[in-house]
Amino acid sequence: MGQLTLSEVRKSYGTFEVIKGVILDVREGEFVVFVGPSGCGKSTLLRMIAGLDETTSGDIVIDGKRVNDLPPVKRGIAMVFQSYALYPHMTVFENIAFPLRVEGLAEDKLKAKVENAARILHLDQRLQQKPGMLSGGQRQRVAIGRAIVREPRIFLFDEPLSNLDAALRADMRIELAKLHRQLKATMIYVTHDQVEAMTMADRIVVLDVGSISQTGTPLELYHKPANMFVAGFIGNPKMNFLPVTCKGASDGGVEVDYKGKSLLLPVAPHRVTAGQPLTLGIRPEHLQVDGGDIVISVTPTVIERLGAQTVAYASLDGEGENFCATLPGSALVRTDKPLAAGIRAADCHLFDADGVAFERRVELTEIEVNALKPKTAV
Ligand code: ADP
Ligand code: MG
Repeated sequence: MGQLTLSEVRKSYGTFEVIKGVILDVREGEFVVFVGPSGCGKSTLLRMIAGLDETTSGDIVIDGKRVNDLPPVKRGIAMVFQSYALYPHMTVFENIAFPLRVEGLAEDKLKAKVENAARILHLDQRLQQKPGMLSGGQRQRVAIGRAIVREPRIFLFDEPLSNLDAALRADMRIELAKLHRQLKATMIYVTHDQVEAMTMADRIVVLDVGSISQTGTPLELYHKPANMFVAGFIGNPKMNFLPVTCKGASDGGVEVDYKGKSLLLPVAPHRVTAGQPLTLGIRPEHLQVDGGDIVISVTPTVIERLGAQTVAYASLDGEGENFCATLPGSALVRTDKPLAAGIRAADCHLFDADGVAFERRVELTEIEVNALKPKTAV
């Protein structure tokens, strides 16, 4: 129960195609996160699965049954929105019970289900209160309770934590991860926040203007992004991109030149010719303060001391703060004082002129290898 297949799903508003042929299999019990910048089509895709928006073409299949023509209530899904959509004049109990009342469920069964959901969500003491007396986090839990009592095959969440403050968001991330373990239900969660995606997902689907850019486990996307879009979107602060020139390929990988400095990158050498412009990617947290295979000089213009870490922002070639290094908390760096940033070849990513990544030959640690395996059995 709770398996979803999207085959070549498309959505157009007039001549404007918003969802451009999405193909995806979501396994039973999986926690899948759709992530991407605002406007990339996350909500539209979720609403199509829910049946709230019509599908222009392609099939949406839940547990082997094509649901394109079924209304939302017949699809076995429950959706939680960013705006909690609670009834202010009803108690918490009645808000959670609402879908069961619509179904006409007997009072004793209804009461048992509402109380069970309230227990899971720590709302037992709040059942007789009105939403106006609750905090934002508690209100969102009521909305989730209303979804739980329906016992859906698939839970759909559309940015449910975006209205909460940062501390509460972090708490609710943990609560939702626990809820997923407890209910063992399929969950599809939409967010523009890559931290939410990284922390909660079994598998992340990165959307870029209506198409899937890459699908993978959080660490798979972090270590092996398929393209510059994913490389720049996953990870915070974002990956640095440096223009380099190809010097040639060998068994050892691809050799590139950055301002007269040569670096042999351990990547699968495909389609390269000497002189070709490429882009080298290096994450801020991978820059070294004590050497590397090459060292580049950058002059920080802004420094953020976060305690555990120091983040230095610099301008390469005078183009704004386009370079960032995450250094130890006690790093001896100052604004306007050149900093030697070491780059190790093994940490680098390489992209062709179309932004497509060369396959990295990186040795992952045992923890990373295990994390690459989806937590949910196929
Ligand atoms: P996201 O949730 O990723 O921020 P949406 O799915 O809400 O993005 O929107 C994707 C695109 O579809 C946007 O360009 C948006 O303007 C467009 N869009 C959404 N709803 C409609 C509509 N009813 N009519 C026309 N365009 C729409
Ligand atoms: Mg949205």
